[in-house]
Amino acid sequence: MSTPPLASGPEGTRALRALLGVVLDALAAGDRARGGPLPAGGPGAVDARVGDALGDVLPEDGDPDALATLVRVLAEGAADPADALCAAHLHCPPLAVAVAADLAAGALNPSLDSWDQAPAASALEARVTRALARHAGLADALVTTGGTESNQLALLLARERHGPGLRLVHGANAHHSLPRAAWLLGLPEPVVVPAPAGLLDPAALDAALTTLPGPVLVAATAGTTDAGLIDPLPAVAARCAAHGARLHVDAAYGGGLLFSERHRAKLAGLDAADTVTLDLHKLGWQPVAAGLLAVRDPDDLAALHQRADYLNADDDTGAGLPDLLGRSLRTSRRPDVLKIAVTLRTLGRGGLGALVDRVCALAEELAGQVAARPGLDLCAPPVISTVLFRPARATDDAVAAVRRTLLADGRAVLGRARHDGRLWLKTTLLNPHTRPADLAGLLDLVEGSTPR
Ligand SMILES: *Cc1c(COP(=O)(O)O)cnc(C)c1O
Repeated sequence: MSTPPLASGPEGTRALRALLGVVLDALAAGDRARGGPLPAGGPGAVDARVGDALGDVLPEDGDPDALATLVRVLAEGAADPADALCAAHLHCPPLAVAVAADLAAGALNPSLDSWDQAPAASALEARVTRALARHAGLADALVTTGGTESNQLALLLARERHGPGLRLVHGANAHHSLPRAAWLLGLPEPVVVPAPAGLLDPAALDAALTTLPGPVLVAATAGTTDAGLIDPLPAVAARCAAHGARLHVDAAYGGGLLFSERHRAKLAGLDAADTVTLDLHKLGWQPVAAGLLAVRDPDDLAALHQRADYLNADDDTGAGLPDLLGRSLRTSRRPDVLKIAVTLRTLGRGGLGALVDRVCALAEELAGQVAARPGLDLCAPPVISTVLFRPARATDDAVAAVRRTLLADGRAVLGRARHDGRLWLKTTLLNPHTRPADLAGLLDLVEGSTPR
C-alpha cells in the first residue's frame, strides 16, 4: 500500500474531496437503511451489525472500503437528532455550516496549547471567547469540552480563590457533574438545598448559608437538565451577596436564550455570577464539543497558569508569543472555537435568536397538544424547550415501558425525568425543522403504546 494522503498540504484538497463523497454517500445509505429516528431491535441487533461491519479490528492488511462500511453502519445505528422524533436529550442536531467548519478544524489540526501550533486559531479563540463572555455580561471565557468540564473548572477556580475548605452548596435540581466535581477536587461534602417543584428555593438557600461557616460556592441552574427550569437567579444572587458567597450559574442549557430578544429576560441575574457554564452543543446547534466557562474576574484564570518550557518559555512569552497553556487544563486541544465563530457570523444574533424562538415555540405547541388530549397529562408549561408529560392514570412502570417500547421499535427517542415524585416522559425540542404534525404523530405513538 502506498503512503496514504494527508488531509492538508498539496494533496489534501483532492484527497479529502474524494473521501467526502464517500462519507456523504455512506451517511445517506445508512440513513435510508435506518428509516426512523433510531435503529429498531435494541442493543443486540445494533451490536451484531457493528460486529459484522467491523470484523477484525486490526487486520494485517487494511481495507480501503473501511470508511464507507463503518460510516454506513454508524449512520444506520444512529439516534439521529435531525429526526423530529429523536427528542429525548439535550442532544442537538448540529448545523451543516458548523459541521463543515469542524472539517476544516480537523484537516488543519491546530492545537491550542502553543501559539506555534495554532497562530490564527489562538487569535480567533481569544476574540470569540471574550465576545461571548461579554454577551453573557462577564469578562472572559475558556473553551471546554462541555458543561461537565466547565462546572469542574468553576469549582477549581473557586477553590483556588477561597481555599480547600470551600463548600459547594447546590440545589437538589443541579446537574450531577457539580457534586462529582466537588468529589474530584477533594472538597468537603456538598450541601444540597431542597428544590421543591424543581427550583432552588431561595429561603432554603438562605437558611443553609446562615448555618455554614467558611467559604461557600453556590451553584444555581439556568435550564435544568430534566425540566428546563431556571432557578430564581436575582433572588439567589441577592442571598449570595448578603452572605458573601461566590455564585456559579450552570447555564449549559439555558445560556442559549441569550441569543433571543424574546427569551433573554428569563436569564436576568445571570451577570451577577462569578462564573457561568455555557454549552453551545445544547441550545447552540454545534456538534460536540462546544463548551465554555465564562468568568467575571479574569484574574481568577491566573490559577490555571502553567509553565512548560517547550510550550511557553519565559523568553518566548517575553518576546510576544501568546501564552496559551493557562487557557485550559488540557494540553493538546482542538480549535472548537472555529465552528462556533463560523456559526455566530453566519447566522448572526438574529438567526440564532430565531432558532431559539422556534424551538421554544415548538415546546409551547407540544404542551398545548398534550393539554388538549384527555389521555395525557402535562407536567407544567415549558420555560425553555423541554416538555414533560405522561399517559393519564398510568403507573411509573407503564411510563418507563412506553419509552422502552418506542426505543426498541426504533419509532421515537423520548427521555425520562422524575418530577413531583412521579416519572414523566421527557421531550427536549432542539430541532427547528420539526413541525406541529410531527409532534402530533409523536403523541399518537405514545398513546398507541400505552398499555390499557
Ligand atoms: C448537559 C448539562 C451539563 C453537562 O454538559 P456536558 O456538555 O454534557 O458535559 C451540565 N449542566 C447542565 C444543566 C446540563 O444540562
